[in-house]
Amino acid sequence: MRSPGLVACGRCGAQAAQPPPVTWTCSVERGARRYFCEACARDNLRAIEGRLDSDWW
Ligand SMILES: [Zn+2]
Repeated sequence: MRSPGLVACGRCGAQAAQPPPVTWTCSVERGARRYFCEACARDNLRAIEGRLDSDWW
């Protein structure tokens, strides 16, 4: 089910009109674009940073 004028958050499923708000994060995973809403992007960032940290140390 794809609705062309909408983007959906890859995590919580929240939807926004195209183009997504600047607060949304777009990441490309294996050629597929995924968007994350502001709240999920923040959670995601923290998770990514946490992962980097534990890898780094
Ligand atoms: Zn979300």
